[in-house]
Amino acid sequence: MKSYSEWKALSETLKLQGQAYINGQFQPAISGETFPSINPATEQLLVDVASCDTADVDLAVASARSAFKSGVWAEMHPRQRKQIMLKWADLIEAHQDEFALLDTLDMGKSISEMVNIDMPDAIDCYRWTAESIDKVYGEIAPTGNDTLAMIHHEPVGVVGAITPWNYPMLMVSWKIAPAIAAGNSVVLKPSEKSPLSALRLAELATEAGIPDGVLNVLPGFGHTAGKALALHMDVNVLAFTGSTRVAGMLMGYAGESNMKRVWLEAGGKSPNLVFVDCDIEKAAAGAANAIFGNQGEVCIACSRLYVEKSIKQEFIAALLESAKRFQPGDPLDPATTMGPMVDGTQLATVERYIRSAQEEGGDVIFGGLPDYKEGEGFFAKPTIVDNANNDMTFVKEEIFGPVLAVCEFETEAEAIELANDSEYGLGAAVWTQDISRAHRVSRKIESGMVWVNTWGEGDSTVPFGGVKASGNGRDKSLHALEKYTDVKNVLIRL
Ligand code: NAD
Repeated sequence: MKSYSEWKALSETLKLQGQAYINGQFQPAISGETFPSINPATEQLLVDVASCDTADVDLAVASARSAFKSGVWAEMHPRQRKQIMLKWADLIEAHQDEFALLDTLDMGKSISEMVNIDMPDAIDCYRWTAESIDKVYGEIAPTGNDTLAMIHHEPVGVVGAITPWNYPMLMVSWKIAPAIAAGNSVVLKPSEKSPLSALRLAELATEAGIPDGVLNVLPGFGHTAGKALALHMDVNVLAFTGSTRVAGMLMGYAGESNMKRVWLEAGGKSPNLVFVDCDIEKAAAGAANAIFGNQGEVCIACSRLYVEKSIKQEFIAALLESAKRFQPGDPLDPATTMGPMVDGTQLATVERYIRSAQEEGGDVIFGGLPDYKEGEGFFAKPTIVDNANNDMTFVKEEIFGPVLAVCEFETEAEAIELANDSEYGLGAAVWTQDISRAHRVSRKIESGMVWVNTWGEGDSTVPFGGVKASGNGRDKSLHALEKYTDVKNVLIRL
């Protein structure tokens, strides 16, 4: 790992590109409009970024459609497509410091998280998905001897992808790698708060040999570029990660336009259940990591902590000790464990929920309201609020910041009931040494993912996604390919 001064020096030499990437080339928005990309740790301008809208979306979708129809990628031999995607992964790896810096500067994530988590996971996503290209088979249906029914998995055509800012590299990679591996063309609209790494990814795709038009990247705002993409009549599938509010809007846009298939990875308010028979030190370290890692800007953040009453005081003492590890600082310093919030709006949201927690009877036992000073970055404090319950606003709603609600329970049934008492169903953690309880509880939890005696783990082999208002479909694993393929049945009478 490079030192603080090395990262700072490197950040000053970094080339920042803010233009749209369409048909294998950078270009300004057709309107000529731009918006500023701001470093949330310093509030300084990084670069002006193309503000794409409907006209750019039309151009990018036409380029994607033309590439798809030509068969230049979709019909290329699978082995060759695999080799190109593997080369893309190699190029990303060769430039991993640059990508780590781009996301750290753009959205404030600590450089050590980028180097240790986001980059290895993103590179693995491209390699693993590339390897799937020549290993996924079709099926023969058991129709009887007088017919032959073959089930093919075909690319859908043009995929529109809309992604958030909290893990820019990873969220983009989880969409575009399987969509492109399956043979589709993609128009990606990254978050306006973190577009820079996606643009560089597209440039490297071309360098690796992915044909022009197969990956187009349009930076721009949700209500302009995002909405135009979602309403477009020539987009076959929309793959989204972001808030539940916008996810609902996208379903409406699909209905209003061409009934494109919509895959949604939406918000969360994940529970963390700590039982009397857990390893308290490990559970406390896990609970702190699950809410303060990445400044709490994590969809699977376990923001609702339920602790069995008989161990609550002992557990809180261990939790407070673990929480000390998370202190906001310059995200370019490898020793920093928490960067700033992505922008002033997100910081204001955190502040509003801490106030609401206090007004509704919660006790702040760690951290508290931010001490914001203009021009010095949007830093929040890791905050723990005790004596919380499911009726409080900050326990019900997603905050997307480093604010932990501590609640208690007395029985296993009550713990499950409290955990499931949420509109969301993304992730959950369970801490227990009792193997039977681990199975019993994880079966009853309403969520797409359950971690037992850990939190957030899972490489490219495991699916990621939620139920209820947390969405549908799965990123990662072979299940991700299902989102970007159509099933075709060809039946021959023999
Ligand atoms: P957001 O919903 O505000 O924005 C997500 C994307 O949608 C952005 O690119 C944005 O520009 C675009 N968008 C906004 N309005 C739009 C519109 N009207 N039409 C089309 N596109 C529009 O979410 P965010 O603030 O970027 O990200 C935070 C949210 O993402 C949280 O709720 C978090 O839980 C969720 N998230 C979920 C997962 C998951 O896998 N389930 C992963 C990461 C983040």
